[in-house]
Amino acid sequence: MTEYNAERIVQARHLEGMTQRELSERSHISQSKLSKLQNGFIVFKENEARAIAAALGFPIAYFTREDPILPMTAVTYRKTSKSSMGELAAVSIEYSELCATVSRLAKFLGISAGKTAWIRKMAPRKPDLSISEIDRIANQARTCMGLDPIGPIGNLTRSLERQGIVVAPMKSTGGSDDEKARLTSEGITYPQCEGMPCIGYSAGKRIGGDRQRFTKAHELGHLILHRFRRPDTSQQMEREAHLFAGALLLPAEDMLRSIQRNATLSDFLKIKSGWGASIAASISRARTLDIISVERYRSLQIQLSSRGWRKQEPVNVGEEHPLLLKQMIQAVFGVGSSIGGEQAIKSFDAASKLAIPFRYLDCWSDGLVEEGVEFGFIEDRINSVASDRVRHGAERERIPVG
Ligand SMILES: [Zn+2]
Repeated sequence: MTEYNAERIVQARHLEGMTQRELSERSHISQSKLSKLQNGFIVFKENEARAIAAALGFPIAYFTREDPILPMTAVTYRKTSKSSMGELAAVSIEYSELCATVSRLAKFLGISAGKTAWIRKMAPRKPDLSISEIDRIANQARTCMGLDPIGPIGNLTRSLERQGIVVAPMKSTGGSDDEKARLTSEGITYPQCEGMPCIGYSAGKRIGGDRQRFTKAHELGHLILHRFRRPDTSQQMEREAHLFAGALLLPAEDMLRSIQRNATLSDFLKIKSGWGASIAASISRARTLDIISVERYRSLQIQLSSRGWRKQEPVNVGEEHPLLLKQMIQAVFGVGSSIGGEQAIKSFDAASKLAIPFRYLDCWSDGLVEEGVEFGFIEDRINSVASDRVRHGAERERIPVG
């Protein structure tokens, strides 16, 4: 007999932002019964599992899963003053589901995490790290990723993916351009991950490509710097990840060549268009490297504010789109035919075997194409996917998995 895991009810509710009352109304199971189920006072049976799965739009397989959810304290998600406990729980549960999905896919494909051994190898163990030590580690990371020690990183996402790091837009941190979805944080990772490491980030047009790149670099910083050590405070942890991101994207040598002591905003504009890092990030990097003085730094900050560039910087840096997770899903659940040049997915199969709703797979892979779509099925989602397909049409590169 199949056993159903009642703890998953609460997790699914968090993911969907659904209250117990709403779930009760939709599933026609009384609130008192739901709470007895959740607390393990009564056995969670197939009938209820079916009703709850249907009410939440989840595959029933989700409720048979026993794999643990990562504790909120294990992930590097940064709480902002705006984020509520519910949102925090949703982000960390979603991230945990992403990792579980990736490890299931890796198992299907026979991939080990061997590719990321360099992270463990270079991860520091000593408690205190100086700025120059972080710079050195970032430089080493560039080498491990097959990048030149200096110069702009063309596509950071692809560089990470080639090294077996999954990069995925998150749903609960505002993964869509949906105005209602509130942005709570920009990135999340789990440095102690034993399988393929995953970096979750907030995508969408509201966050420019430069900020997304910085977030991904910041999360790589967590993966390396906080694998074996955890600074005393979360502020220190954040600071280190920030320093790492600056060092990775803007090598000291590049900065020294391009920025003088009396640099103006227009010099930083050039850095932005050349290196794909925000003006604000390059100003802090110049200060960290002591290329500009404290006074210059302050004056530039004031100018940023007065021009309204703190809210919206000039120079648009294009969004980078991930490919690795999509290719892993295609390799396991793809059908022979392609639609608009992209391999279609057996969505029902994928959702039930990975035990997660297809809409999550769709978001994390930055847009999947479902089988059957060419016959006009599944109308709701196809419009957005179709436009995505046009956008990513040019990206045909395959990343060697494994
Ligand atoms: Zn962080």
